[in-house]
Parts: sequence; structure tokens; C-alpha cells
Amino acid sequence: MLTLQVFIREPYVERERVRVDFPDISRAEKKALVIGAGPAGLFAALSLIEKGIRPIILERGKDVRSRRRDLALLNKEGILDPESNYCFGEGGAGTYSDGKLYTRSNKRGDINRILNLFVQFGAEPHILYDAHPHIGTNKLPRIIQAMRQQITDCGGSFLFGKKVVDLILQDDTIKQVVTADGDRFEADAILLATGHSARDIFHLLDRKKILIEAKPFALGVRIEHPQYLIDAVQYGAAHLTMKGAGGTRTDHLPPASYNLVEQVAGKGVFSFCMCPGGIIAPASTAPGELVVNGWSPSRRNNPFANSGMVVSTEEKDWGAFGQYGPLAGLYFQQSVEQKSFDMGGGRYVAPAQRMADFVDRRKSASLPSCSYLPGIHAVPLAEVLPGFIYEDLRQAFTAFGRKMKGYYTNEAVVVATESRTSSPVRIPRDAKSLRHPQIKNLYPCGEGAGYAGGIVSAAMDGERVAAAVVASFKG
Ligand SMILES: Cc1cc2nc3c(=O)[nH]c(=O)nc-3n(C[C@H](O)[C@H](O)[C@H](O)COP(=O)(O)OP(=O)(O)OC[C@H]3O[C@@H](n4cnc5c(N)ncnc54)[C@H](O)[C@@H]3O)c2cc1C
Repeated sequence: MLTLQVFIREPYVERERVRVDFPDISRAEKKALVIGAGPAGLFAALSLIEKGIRPIILERGKDVRSRRRDLALLNKEGILDPESNYCFGEGGAGTYSDGKLYTRSNKRGDINRILNLFVQFGAEPHILYDAHPHIGTNKLPRIIQAMRQQITDCGGSFLFGKKVVDLILQDDTIKQVVTADGDRFEADAILLATGHSARDIFHLLDRKKILIEAKPFALGVRIEHPQYLIDAVQYGAAHLTMKGAGGTRTDHLPPASYNLVEQVAGKGVFSFCMCPGGIIAPASTAPGELVVNGWSPSRRNNPFANSGMVVSTEEKDWGAFGQYGPLAGLYFQQSVEQKSFDMGGGRYVAPAQRMADFVDRRKSASLPSCSYLPGIHAVPLAEVLPGFIYEDLRQAFTAFGRKMKGYYTNEAVVVATESRTSSPVRIPRDAKSLRHPQIKNLYPCGEGAGYAGGIVSAAMDGERVAAAVVASFKG
């Protein structure tokens, strides 16, 4: 097969095929605890194995298969398991994510190596040359299971139902990690890769007086259009055939996507994690809090196009929550999620409003059909969202309608709340050793610690931190 590499207005980078042979480390002298089995934790564990260190993964959630049953219960019955959901469990938030593998963090690690490892564990090779590689939610779980198999085949440990609840400190060192079932673990290094939704971990660090910092993040809504409408806007009617509701694309075109950004009142309002042919998912992790996100299957063949539409927020926006210091953003985020849950009426039914009604401050008399399985309920979203977020979104929606003719329409539905765009907390680390500045065997890692935003950047951060641990063992 002939493969061509084409670089347009970007530097030429040799993209080699990479295949890693992972050694047996069952008798390795050194071991590292990896807390959290998301992309950061998994890629860190694989990197540790490659360098001859035995990883012990502690994961609060369940394996992929059991997790699927919990997601079905959430989608169909509105019952949430706080330990097993779209964010918690084998593969972390990555497993039932959309699986878009593009990142702007190209200086933070070797993207090509991460993509090649995905292929080694079962992803289709086209992700190696696509401009916007995408795996799809239907294919990710198998890939994640193959990674676990590799880790355990090499002699690493992968433990489920191990929620870390305490850290036993002696001076500047963590002596033991305690899990909810009372088990205690010791290790030479502890990689903390618990993701942006592990609020209990942020509270634990704060209680233990281990330094954490508030971090800006973005919050808003998810917006859903019929896919045919986005196709018509992006491709023009000439590229549509008139089969089905509103017309379908001609065969050679993929479902259209978009990327929108606008400055409103000095704040960035932008589309986030756009999912053509996708589904809006309930991404909550705690009872009484409503969070939405989006995914799509590899064929992107659902009749809806959804995207997060979020406003950047920082410390000065969090008002009275400032009293919580480094946890101010977390409390602000949680308060909006709780409001959203209450206004939806329970069982993870999401409050929603048609787009033009949102801008005109009118309660929607009816709602269009929506992919969000627990259901949507018509609510004036001004009663859910903080005032500045609501106002900035109102202005941005009409501006987006001017940029993309047809985007601003009452056929689109606005669903609250898209609040877990990135971590509201940073766990600091030394720029060189990647250790926490106060605790010498603690390595904050991945999105939850504030060093990644997405699957590939989390995976690259996992590899970086693993390399730092290896360097520390070599002295
Ligand atoms: C629906 C959805 C769609 C997404 N789509 C995309 C996409 O298309 N592309 C993209 O790049 N990103 C996407 N993301 C985001 C992506 O999944 C995350 O950026 C990525 O998973 C972060 O990796 P991480 O390893 O840092 O953390 P996580 O993936 O959050 O993993 C953290 C892990 O730690 C575990 N954990 C938490 N607390 C504890 C504890 N106390 N003890 C033990 N274990 C604990 C959790 O159970 C979890 O498994 C999506 C996310 C969701 C929810």
C-alpha cells in the first residue's frame, strides 16, 4: 500500500509507524501507584511498563462491560451510580467519549506515538493520517480493554472498586494510600490521574493541606441542531439530495461540523467538542447534579449535530464562592449543575429551550426531538445559568447566526449544563521533576490536575509523568 503524507502550512514531521513491545515486569523491583484509569493513567502505566517499572492501577469504577450496564440504567431510568458513569470506570471519561483524537498540544509530547499505540490496541489505521482523527464511542471500549489486558499480561495490577479516600503522610512523603474498602497501598511513586470530576480528591488534598489552586475553566450549554441543517449550512443545498427529513448528504460527504468562537464583553464564547452525527450524553457523577457532554459512533450516523457552547470563567466571575479559596471554581460549577438538575425536574431530565426562544427570553412552548436519552424539559434557561453566562451566550448565538447563515434557528435546542470542559482546580507540580512542590512522591497528572484537555493530551501527560518517575528512580 502506498501512503502519502501531505503537510499544508505546517512543518514537515517524520511520522513513523511505532509498535512497542512491552516487557514482563512482574518481578520489577520498583513499583508505582497509578490512581485513575483514564487515558492519563493508562498511558502512564504502559510507559512505566516499557521502562521496567510495575504499575498498580487503583480505579474507583468498574470494568468496561459492567460500566455499560450502569450507563444504560442512567439513560433509560435516570438512575446514576456515582462510582460508575460516563466519567468514572475503566478508561475514565475516554471510554464512552466521542474519541476525537486531535489536540493543539503538539509541543507537549509525541502525538504520533499516542495514535500508533491506539492502533496497536485496535484502532483503525486511518487515524494515523486523518486530519481530524476520530475513533467513535462504539469502538473505544474494546481498545481500552486491550490496554488493560496488556498491562495485566505484563505483570501490572489493575484493581477496580478501589476509590482512594485518604493519604497517610509522613513529613513530605505519602506513606500509604487508603481506599474506601479499607485497603492500604504503598509505593515508590504515586501518580494522581483522577480526572476533572474527582471532586472528592480535590477536597481530600485541601483537607490535608496539600497545595491546590483555583483554575479558570469554561461553562455553558450543549446545543443540538438536526444534522441535515448543519450539512445545508456548511455544504450548501446543492450538495444535498432530498431523501428523508430535510434532505441527506450525497455519499461522498461526511456529516458537517463547525468550530465557532466569539469575544463577548471581554470573554471567549466558543464551541467545544462538536459531535456531528452524535448524541448528547448525561455526564453527571453525583446525585442531584446535571452535566451534559456529547459523543458519536464511528460512522457519525445519528440525525443530530451537537456541540458544547461555553463561556470562559475565572476567579472574578465566581462571586460569593470566592470564600472557598482554591475550591471556588468547583463550588461555582457545582451550584450551576445542581440548579440544572432541580430545574429539569429530576431523573437527569435536562432543562432546555429552543435557540431563538433563549435569545428572546421566551419559555419554549414545545421542544424539538433531541438525542438526549433521559429527556428534556422546557425551562427558561435564564433561571438556570449565571446571568453573565446567559447574556454572553445570547449575544454569541446571534453572532454565530451571522457567521453561519442558518445556524441561528428555533429548530436548534439549547440543553443545560455543559460544565466539565476542564478542571476547575490545578494541582501544582514542579516544571522539571513534575512532582508536587510539597510532596516528594506525588505526581499530579492529566486533565484533573490541570495539565491536559482531551484524550491525546491526557495520554501524552501520562507518558511525560511516567518518564519523570523513571528519571527520579534513576536518581
Ligand atoms: C461524553 C464525553 C465525550 C468526550 N469526547 C472527547 C473527544 O472526542 N475527544 C477528546 O479528546 N476528549 C473527549 N472527552 C474528554 C476526555 O475523555 C478527557 O479529556 C480525558 O478522558 C481525560 O483523561 P484523564 O485520564 O486525565 O482523566 P479521566 O478520563 O477523567 O480519568 C480519571 C479516572 O480516575 C478515576 N478516579 C477518580 N477519582 C478516583 C479516586 N478517588 N480513586 C480512584 N480512581 C479515581 C475515574 O474513575 C476515572 O477513571 C470527552 C469526555 C466525555 C465525558
